[in-house]
Amino acid sequence: MRGASVKFRQWVKTLTFYEILMGMKATLMHFLHYRPVTIQYPHERKPLPHNYRGMLALLRYDDGTEKCVGCDLCEAACPSRVIRVYSAEVPGEPTKRYAKEYYMDMTRCLFCGLCVQACPVDALGMSQEYEWAVYDKRDLLLCKEQLLAIGDRAFPVREKPLEFQHPNVAYFNVAFHHLPPKDD
Ligand code: SF4
Ligand code: SF4
Repeated sequence: MRGASVKFRQWVKTLTFYEILMGMKATLMHFLHYRPVTIQYPHERKPLPHNYRGMLALLRYDDGTEKCVGCDLCEAACPSRVIRVYSAEVPGEPTKRYAKEYYMDMTRCLFCGLCVQACPVDALGMSQEYEWAVYDKRDLLLCKEQLLAIGDRAFPVREKPLEFQHPNVAYFNVAFHHLPPKDD
């Protein structure tokens, strides 16, 4: 008896094109509630997560001086040998060093962020820039000025120099000639 009832229901469904009607209903519902997922790049852009690792940048302090002290730690930390640093003494200040030349071969970069973590003075940052497609891969060998320019546009808010962030430590720095006033 039960078998006959199932067969009857299947027969009615076949006769009334039930499956086709259900399919058309699903299509119609999708048509009525359509929300496009395609983004019209480059006119529209997807918001990136705040910790997105884009193009690397060299940073400056708020007085415009470069943060990098040419210590080479980023070069040592990089697993892909992307970075080359040539450091030198700051003219007139023999206790200070800076990166006279600084190169990054971005064709090799893994965007792992190890160099950023290794830097003791937070001189490196990962910007949110990703539109760096080029026709000649030699254009991705970036020099210090290019990396500083990326930092200038990607990190407009800059830190104070270390001496002003930690005036008590700066007090004992014999090389520092412009000691900021202490708070009363
Ligand atoms: S992000 Fe990683 S691979 Fe790229 S330069 Fe830094 S340490 Fe090297
Ligand atoms: S970017 Fe940082 S780790 Fe690399 S040389 Fe400069 S100060 Fe040292």
